[in-house]
Amino acid sequence: MRVLEVQGLHVRYGKRAAVHDVSLGVARGELLSLVGGSGAGKSTIAHAVAGLVAPSGGAILVNGVDLLAAPRRAQRALRLPLQLILQDPYSSLPNHLRVRSIVAEPLLVHRLGDRARRVAAALDAVGLPPREFAERYPHQLSGGQRQRVALARALVTDPAVLIADEPTAMLDATLRAGMTDLLKRLADERGLAVLHITHDLAMARRISDRIAVMHRGAIVEQGPAHQVLIAP
Ligand code: ADP
Ligand code: ADP
Repeated sequence: MRVLEVQGLHVRYGKRAAVHDVSLGVARGELLSLVGGSGAGKSTIAHAVAGLVAPSGGAILVNGVDLLAAPRRAQRALRLPLQLILQDPYSSLPNHLRVRSIVAEPLLVHRLGDRARRVAAALDAVGLPPREFAERYPHQLSGGQRQRVALARALVTDPAVLIADEPTAMLDATLRAGMTDLLKRLADERGLAVLHITHDLAMARRISDRIAVMHRGAIVEQGPAHQVLIAP
């Protein structure tokens, strides 16, 4: 069973349809890249899955349970297996908190214990040794390190699904390769299901198991990375 399954999703902003009848799924250990030009609707899908925008139709199943059909008060718990990272590592970290407190945030939200150990493990997993980084503030980090902190915060609850919305958009070429390799490794080694959003088809081909191509709010092609040929 696919840990994340999106079925017939529709999202509107006012009267305009941004996402039209989109279906996709991600299995454990699989990296699916959603590619397409600016305005195609990629981020809207990420935001709908993460609960940041309300769809006007369709289903979002996590481990077979439809989030949209569940009572509001149950949704936070149902979203526990999902975590999201966004593209801008400068605006996504609170400047007044130390790295260890930032990474611990989802543990507080979901009332999970064993915080110090989980935070250290998450920092280790993204290649930031806790001894060196845990006490720093965001202004004491490079852009690439900030993005790794955002990734550690997403991994700290040991999620089944990671949604990464253009996680490399603000990074230079070397850091971009490091971050995408890390996402690939998390899928391969930890069995994470990764929904990766990018406008970079060449990079998507390099790291993805499957690719879904979006155009004007709809998926126009979907398949194994080596078979998806149409440039968005
Ligand atoms: P992508 O991530 O592929 O660049 P988006 O999902 O951000 O595309 O946007 C899809 C469409 O929805 C675009 O036409 C965009 O202008 C519109 N849109 C995105 N966010 C909003 C919003 N908060 N309010 C109104 N329209 C939006
Ligand atoms: P533990 O006490 O298990 O090591 P944390 O390192 O997450 O867990 O610290 C516990 C809490 O204390 C955090 O949730 C955080 O909000 C708060 N805290 C402690 N020191 C700081 C600090 N320097 N900056 C921000 N928050 C802090």
